[in-house]
Amino acid sequence: MDIRLIILGSGQDGGSPQVGTRGGVGPPRAASSIALTGEDAPRVLFDASPDLRMQYADHLAHRYPESRSPFDAVCITHGHMGHYAGLVHFGKEAMASTSVPLYADQTVLALLNANEPWKSLFTAGHLNAVATDAPLELGAVSVSAIRVPHRDEFGATVAFSVAVNKRPWALYVPDIDAWEPWDSAGDVVAMHRVCLLDATFGTEDELPDREPSEMPHPPVTDTIERFADLAEGRTVVLTHLNHSNPVADPSSELHQRAVNAGFTVAHDGLEIAWAP
Ligand SMILES: [Zn+2]
Ligand SMILES: [Zn+2]
Repeated sequence: MDIRLIILGSGQDGGSPQVGTRGGVGPPRAASSIALTGEDAPRVLFDASPDLRMQYADHLAHRYPESRSPFDAVCITHGHMGHYAGLVHFGKEAMASTSVPLYADQTVLALLNANEPWKSLFTAGHLNAVATDAPLELGAVSVSAIRVPHRDEFGATVAFSVAVNKRPWALYVPDIDAWEPWDSAGDVVAMHRVCLLDATFGTEDELPDREPSEMPHPPVTDTIERFADLAEGRTVVLTHLNHSNPVADPSSELHQRAVNAGFTVAHDGLEIAWAP
């Protein structure tokens, strides 16, 4: 079966380089988003980033026929700007999609339903709200949500688990405050063959002018240590990289350490194929 994931964006919400900066570490990156696609797969967008228009043009347009509804479903992890701002492209000024299921936690659906320009996407029938209380069934593929601890000022955050023929395959966790408070992190990672994990910052003290408590994320050094045993025999991808993250530079010590420990550092356009 041809089922694959394409990383449409491997950057943090602001991409890299960010607006207002002259450069970022490593190659340019769009904001975090992935697509499920392939001959035998439904077309599913995970997170609708502010870079969606170019991500579609660069990585998906040549695969799909022209259509007002190129996606069978959209799954949103949470209500931070890099993960849902691109939903505006489903509206009448752009693709004007018809009844595409939008799968998200009910708190995030409530946020969108209460505020324009997102509210009109539902009232005009471009998107159909589907709460993550039950799995989203899309033929051989199903998607389910797992709550994870992350700044919840605009609603809850979920990770997505993609199963093929009922067997868990891929896990997408672009944002988490830390691994410790997520008790089942190790078990959930161990259940999947492919895991895309939050790697926003490389080290604790990467942004000297910002308080870590303002934007908590597990540093890559911690993630490598915690999941090193699990990186053997599965694909563990470090993604959602901030423009300052040294792991984004292939010649850095941290990048080498990650690769030597069996991790993959994400880049835009990276494809991962499903295998039985
Ligand atoms: Zn994010
Ligand atoms: Zn976030």
